[in-house]
Amino acid sequence: GPGPHPVLAARGLRVRYGGFTALDGVGLDVAAGRVTAVVGPNGAGKSTLFHCLAGTLRPAGGRVLFDGWDVTRLPAHARTRLGIARTFQQLAVFPTLTVAENVRIGAEHGRIADPAAVERALRLFGLDGPVRTLPAAGLPTGTLRRVELARAFAGAPRVLLLDEPAAGLDTAEVAALARVLRALAADGTALLVVEHDLDLVAGLADVVHVMAAGRVVASGPPGGVLDAAGAREVRP
Ligand code: ADP
Ligand code: MG
Repeated sequence: GPGPHPVLAARGLRVRYGGFTALDGVGLDVAAGRVTAVVGPNGAGKSTLFHCLAGTLRPAGGRVLFDGWDVTRLPAHARTRLGIARTFQQLAVFPTLTVAENVRIGAEHGRIADPAAVERALRLFGLDGPVRTLPAAGLPTGTLRRVELARAFAGAPRVLLLDEPAAGLDTAEVAALARVLRALAADGTALLVVEHDLDLVAGLADVVHVMAAGRVVASGPPGGVLDAAGAREVRP
């Protein structure tokens, strides 16, 4: 039957870079309380889709809907205010600011600027100890990924968009990440995860969309979809 009402939805998205078609009519739903994953080989269009959802790229065709409202023309900062938060594939923390200051910025730019939400985010991602007063510069990748996640979560988002959140993490960190993301989804946040790590996706996602050459070529629960689409063969 039909899934839950989507918080965020893509409908028929088309993107061209010069003569090259990067997205060729992509549609999917991101629902509250679920982890939705997008997988596929390099160049499939995953990050391009992500940018259309976050508002950093305007598609040539198609629509992005938030709570059923057309936000296709809303710039990224306005979407953040509505509750569409994201992290970056290339880490984008402010190096001279402390961990807590970085996370506070997320609350200030988010849906709700609540100091309690900053503390909750620091706690949730294990950043409420002495590390909170350290400048971000020089912290290990795993810690910086958690700073980014905490910053995105501190604005009380309705949707969290994560582009390769496991990149650069070791096995224990990936397992910890999966636990936190599951907890966020269980708490009602809608999560979209673009990810190369198919073991993480298999253990984390409720729904997986496999992309190839700018299209969604398979969708469903992780069990069948990842194997049926041959996604495991294109693993880097
Ligand atoms: P993925 O994230 O799945 O690896 P991308 O969305 O980054 O894929 O890229 C999809 C395709 O679009 C690739 O062939 C890539 O080379 C191309 N592409 C991405 N960004 C640009 C750009 N700014 N200009 C031209 N081509 C681009
Ligand atoms: Mg990418």
